[in-house]
Amino acid sequence: MIQAPVSNELFERAQHTIPGGVNSPVRAFRAVGGNPRFMVSAKGPYMFDEDGNQYVEFINSWGPMILGHAPAVVQEAVMAAVPNSLSFGAPTRKEVEMAELIVSMVPGIEKVRMVNSGTEATMSAVRVARGYTGRSKFIKFEGCYHGHGDSFLISAGSGAITLGVPDSPGVTTGVAADTLTAPYNDLNAVQTLVDANKGEIAAIILEPVAGNMGLVVPEQGFLQGLRDICDKEGIVLIFDEVMTGFRLASGGAQQLYGVTPDMTTLGKIIGGGMPVGAYGGKAEIMNYVAPAGPVYQAGTLSGNPIAMSAGMAMLSHLKNNPEVYAQLEQTAARMVAGMEANMQKLGVKFTINRVGSMFSIFFTDKPVTDFESAKTSDTALFGKYFNAMLKRGIYLAPSQYEALFISTAITDELADQYIQANFEALQEALE
Ligand code: PLP
Repeated sequence: MIQAPVSNELFERAQHTIPGGVNSPVRAFRAVGGNPRFMVSAKGPYMFDEDGNQYVEFINSWGPMILGHAPAVVQEAVMAAVPNSLSFGAPTRKEVEMAELIVSMVPGIEKVRMVNSGTEATMSAVRVARGYTGRSKFIKFEGCYHGHGDSFLISAGSGAITLGVPDSPGVTTGVAADTLTAPYNDLNAVQTLVDANKGEIAAIILEPVAGNMGLVVPEQGFLQGLRDICDKEGIVLIFDEVMTGFRLASGGAQQLYGVTPDMTTLGKIIGGGMPVGAYGGKAEIMNYVAPAGPVYQAGTLSGNPIAMSAGMAMLSHLKNNPEVYAQLEQTAARMVAGMEANMQKLGVKFTINRVGSMFSIFFTDKPVTDFESAKTSDTALFGKYFNAMLKRGIYLAPSQYEALFISTAITDELADQYIQANFEALQEALE
């Protein structure tokens, strides 16, 4: 049994000065019960907490650490950049090289602007799409997360054609009115929204593989169907590849599925662990961004030299070592096969969705294809399972509605350790 008295004490202390004790809500473990662990270091597949406990890592900082923690290639690039100043606020060679690298990797990007988070990337992309089209509304999908920009914190209510209502206090109904929502994988619902708002929709934004309602796979024809609707109606198609970019393939989900969006948003892996995001797309659209064009967007620390050094090292490594993706595929397939065998043996109702090195277990016997079906999962069982895994030194995302991210630091031996822990944790959770 892992004890964590120092983490518990820090969490208690944190709540006096930090809202909820954490700097991002899901870290607080509220969905699964228990207290979060406070980390001090991480290397390869392991993280170490304040109490000296070791965990095998399957969140990897929510995606960025695709090579495991503190990979030498990224660490050395950061160390080399530090003596030259932490920030210039003026252009650098690194930014040019980074832009060229991104353009060479991501099929849908001809020009790119660096920002500091995925949230900034999506907010800016929608603004540019609106500026480019001269239209106000956009469509998002239920259960897709695009950061915490006001216009993304919207749920649809019951019907696909209802106007958005804010999910969070502080988001005005005025803002929400321009966000239309449809169920994931439902092209008919999208077509209905488009028909009902003819000539008013600037953009359709989606996670091309959804990772924020647990993992949900785009059904055959869904992405191409959206591409066709956008082409016909002059709508900007935005793939939010903050999670999937550089993870599912070096060119992201758009490379994997062969559907090219007009704009792409990036985050996570692009910074190698530093706070970085980016948005890019067709030159014709990106030329609307200031100072080339009229749509304003800026950032004091955008293109930060340390962050660019980390990101360039990470992306160059992924570009030059395509075998990374074959290895991740093999590891993830091994883990999923092991879990499936475990759950069949234990008679657990389950659905596992996986694409490459991202997957989710849902405790339901229904196929999970959208947010409604994701919600059929037994979240109470997930909470017990999560804590039983943590006790066995396996660190998972503390919510049903997240994906696991595999890193190249997960060896076959660690995958098998995970499978064994999965069996024991399920047994314990079912008691
Ligand atoms: N878009 C997607 C698909 C995400 O998964 C996230 C974060 O998890 C974001 C946007 C927001 O990124 P950030 O947390 O860097 O603001």
